Amino acid sequence: MRRTAAQKRILHRLRTLHAVEKQPLNLTYVKVHHPKLLRQVMSLKHFRGWRKALEAAGLGYDVIRTELSELIPCEICGREMKALTTHLLAVHELSRAEYEALHPGAPTKSDLMRAQTTWSLREPPHWEPVWSREYVIDYLIFKHERGDDLAPWTVYRDESCLHANAKAYFGSYRAAIEAAGINYREICHIEPTERWTPEKVLERLRRLHLERPLESTSDIRRRDSRLYDRCHHYFGGTVPALEAAGIPYICLTRRRRPAWTRQDVLRAIRVLAQAGLSIRPEALPAHLNGQAECLLATAEQMFGSYEAAVARAGIDYATHRGRRRMTVTGR
Ligand SMILES: [Zn+2]
Repeated sequence: MRRTAAQKRILHRLRTLHAVEKQPLNLTYVKVHHPKLLRQVMSLKHFRGWRKALEAAGLGYDVIRTELSELIPCEICGREMKALTTHLLAVHELSRAEYEALHPGAPTKSDLMRAQTTWSLREPPHWEPVWSREYVIDYLIFKHERGDDLAPWTVYRDESCLHANAKAYFGSYRAAIEAAGINYREICHIEPTERWTPEKVLERLRRLHLERPLESTSDIRRRDSRLYDRCHHYFGGTVPALEAAGIPYICLTRRRRPAWTRQDVLRAIRVLAQAGLSIRPEALPAHLNGQAECLLATAEQMFGSYEAAVARAGIDYATHRGRRRMTVTGR
């Protein structure tokens, strides 16, 4: 691969720092001791982050030295301490937030202290012991190249520490993604400008349910957190949304209230009828996720017969023409 003179200089400098000067090369160390070098690497789009630059120099996190600061300086008086909070209050009459506003990006705890409490980075694939602006970028690039789903709601749900640190260092998750040179629109498989409608919510619910029957309302949140959010937005909750989609509450086999009531029977029948689905007994299994027999038995027990339950639900069994099978359209 052809490299520019600037890139070659940087790679040479990295190798010298490691092999000749025996310097640590973890991010927080470099940021304090070689800030200009770090800035150059991060600004060169070619390298895609610090980790990749090290790799281009033939170095990797398995060979470099790591050093974490035991003390950090107070930016006001220069004294060095493990943590500043008490000192700031006692000597400068400043809260931590006020200090951070005066000196953006200045740490208030030593790296060593931070590493001791940063549980989110203890497990692989993480390679840095503490979070930093640069590490957020490196880690996002790593995940992106590995093909991980970087959609904001997915990361928020599955890796909240990454989402929180992206926001803390960049102001927003989107700004962090863009700082990592990743196209934000590309990582949102649902376009951020996508327009949701109540009908779209119902279509998505039906599709999810057809792919694999929904067992509980939290199932929706796990499988599509945006959809879950939209259910509340348009229908005031997941159960009303499901029922508007023609999926009776009793279909949720792991529902919160497992015992059947008269209301459950009537509601299930009404939901199917209103969705235009067939309510003939032999058609029920197709729409009730294994609950059809139970519905029929409960109806008979509570209303005398299934037909009586249908009548009580206010539906004219003889003229109800619903014959549709549940289908979804579009994508
Ligand atoms: Zn001070």
